[in-house]
Amino acid sequence: PLIPTPEYLSRLNPEQRRAIETTEGPLLILAGAGTGKTRVLTTRFAHLLLTGRAYPSQILAVTFTNKAAREMRERVGAILGEPAEGLWLGTFHAICARMLRRHAEYVGLTSGFNILDTDDQLRLLKQIMEPFRLDTKRWPPNQLMGIIQRWKDRGLTPDRVTPAEDTDFANGHALAIYRAYQLRLRELNTCDFGDLMLHMVEILRSQPNVLAQYHRIFRYILVDEYQDTNTVQYLWLRLLAKREHGPSNIACVGDDDQSIYSWRGAEVENILRFEKDFPGAAVVRLEQNYRSTAQILAAAAGLIAHNEGRLGKTLRPGREDAQGEKVQIIGVRDSDEEARIVGGAIERLQADGHPLSEMAILMRAGFQTRPFEERLMTIGVPYRIVGGLRFYERAEIRDCLAYMRVLSQPSDDLAFERIINVPKRGVGAVAVQKLHGLARTLPGPLTAAVLTQIEQGTLKGKSKEALTSLMEAFQRAKATLETEGQVVAVEQLLEDSGYLQMWRDDRSVEAPGRLDNIRELLRAIGEFATLEGFLEHVALVMDTESETTDDKVSLMTLHGSKGLEFDTVFLPGWEEGVFPSQRSLDEGGNRALEEERRLAYVGLTRARLRAIVVHAASRRIYANWQASMPSRFIEEIPSEYVQIGGQSVESRRQAAAAPSMFASGPFTSTRPSGMPQTPRPRITDVQPQANVPVGATVFHQKFGEGTVIAVDGSRLEINFENGGIKRVMANFVEIRS
Ligand code: ATP
Ligand code: MG
Repeated sequence: PLIPTPEYLSRLNPEQRRAIETTEGPLLILAGAGTGKTRVLTTRFAHLLLTGRAYPSQILAVTFTNKAAREMRERVGAILGEPAEGLWLGTFHAICARMLRRHAEYVGLTSGFNILDTDDQLRLLKQIMEPFRLDTKRWPPNQLMGIIQRWKDRGLTPDRVTPAEDTDFANGHALAIYRAYQLRLRELNTCDFGDLMLHMVEILRSQPNVLAQYHRIFRYILVDEYQDTNTVQYLWLRLLAKREHGPSNIACVGDDDQSIYSWRGAEVENILRFEKDFPGAAVVRLEQNYRSTAQILAAAAGLIAHNEGRLGKTLRPGREDAQGEKVQIIGVRDSDEEARIVGGAIERLQADGHPLSEMAILMRAGFQTRPFEERLMTIGVPYRIVGGLRFYERAEIRDCLAYMRVLSQPSDDLAFERIINVPKRGVGAVAVQKLHGLARTLPGPLTAAVLTQIEQGTLKGKSKEALTSLMEAFQRAKATLETEGQVVAVEQLLEDSGYLQMWRDDRSVEAPGRLDNIRELLRAIGEFATLEGFLEHVALVMDTESETTDDKVSLMTLHGSKGLEFDTVFLPGWEEGVFPSQRSLDEGGNRALEEERRLAYVGLTRARLRAIVVHAASRRIYANWQASMPSRFIEEIPSEYVQIGGQSVESRRQAAAAPSMFASGPFTSTRPSGMPQTPRPRITDVQPQANVPVGATVFHQKFGEGTVIAVDGSRLEINFENGGIKRVMANFVEIRS
């Protein structure tokens, strides 16, 4: 060729180059994990600029997270040799917010509109619901919020909700409330998160001049993680890309096997529709994986092959270090040992010169970080939580800690203030102020002031009732503490004070995760002899905020790990009911399970050199131990790519003559033994249904005798003779008949 290939293209394979050099017309890049999709998109961005096809401001590039946007900005900057500025590069929401500021008047807002956070959103919705006089127990506002969000995810303004899309929720008033909610938002010159997309789609649909303006601006559109776009995002892209005259220069990259956000309304079908929407679209498949070793890749491929209805893709290992290590499967006794083993492996890798920043622990759910955080703090390994807070910094955990601090130390005013109106008890800021005033005139703490006021009858109405019952809850818990120990006492306190119920009533997507965190907290309390011992431990670990080093182990959820890569990836908690999650098993059918499997696939394919899967033989549920079975995903990985190892510490000590790989150098031995011989779960018997028949009479330590009225997984709904209907863990009851 006359013109030499520019440097930035020469390092790419022919398909990747085709995906970059096919600049005009619609393009779909469909490829498996680690094939360079994001890299192609980034290079394509630079290529468009360097070949003079577009100015930086003429390219719209959509990423899935702000982190990805930042990385892409840096990568483009590196290729260009200067910082890239003024780009339309960001997440769907960030870009839409910027657009909407320019056209806010079309939807009745001004450019200075506010964006509500989820708390405000809910508060507003509750106000809107009031005149409808609904029983909020039956129709929780949070649930309605969810319905409205799903409508917004699908691009449905109130006017566009057809009878077929409507719901019976809220006695059939859901749509009317949605309409009123939208009106009120407009009056307040605000919008919620979902409105950013919804309004922009509405504007582009109804204002041809605005649409034409963007058609002029955006000569090229680039979209990463296309498999996770929802309908409203898809509509927005289609509007911007499809023009009457001229080609649609839209390039989307995606992998149907990594679609993990259907619970947030993502529609993997958008990929399938692409060729229909954009006739003549070029489709490029990238098959060379540059990230992972052949072993890891084959393991992940074997696993995902268990899903049906895939588009099907070839994935070839591309790394020169060819074979590499097999995926390690480690069976441990419990979560303590799990954290110890992972911590130990991290230390050994570090001692061998591997940077911590190249190691990650990926878990199914946020609550699972806790034992690892504690272990890493204990052994002094710095870590960061990606996309979330450290366990003890999470709001619900801080609330619970505040309850516990008051229980252990009634004079802890700070803690008491935090929870005096959480959950909402109708004790307003003014009442708290008044109590404070009183506390200052009296010698004792705030709790004492409250008691005094109750006795003297100075508190009135709702505040009096609420605070009386709160103080009683503390007193009862104090008594329980003496007789039954801290776990039962704290659980009772959180129950009696209405704190747990608050989260149970909460229908937001985060609420179940928060309850899981609290359960995890109760588990942690059980590991200490006393409540004070535990609180002291927390105070100490919270203090060891790691130094300002950048070399840290990353802890995150599998969802948060999308698009990232690490040399070493630890995948703990591969047990039935943890991963796949209990919720996905409860749902039954294949849909949820397949999404879990895609999540497992995402997890394995984050690893460049090593993937270590861990499962524990038992987990502590409150004070009890529950046996757990290895995840079905473990068995679904073809055995030739797996190495079983890491038996429990005890058995390893006994077999000291033949040390396992985890006792010696990292991941070198090939001794195929040690996996606990738990019977393999079959699909039919993995739902850990409590073995208690409906109708049985049972006894519960705290609530006494009752009759089982429903069984939901490991939980029972029981009608207690003296306590009404409650949901309790099955292993907390004794069967009487
Ligand atoms: P995911 O599906 O996980 O998002 P991806 O397809 O976006 O993966 P990238 O993150 O773009 O993959 O690339 C994976 C790794 O392979 C990166 O480290 C990237 O730099 C490297 N890579 C991609 N293409 C090449 C190539 N032609 N030569 C060498 N390395 C490459
Ligand atoms: Mg990517």
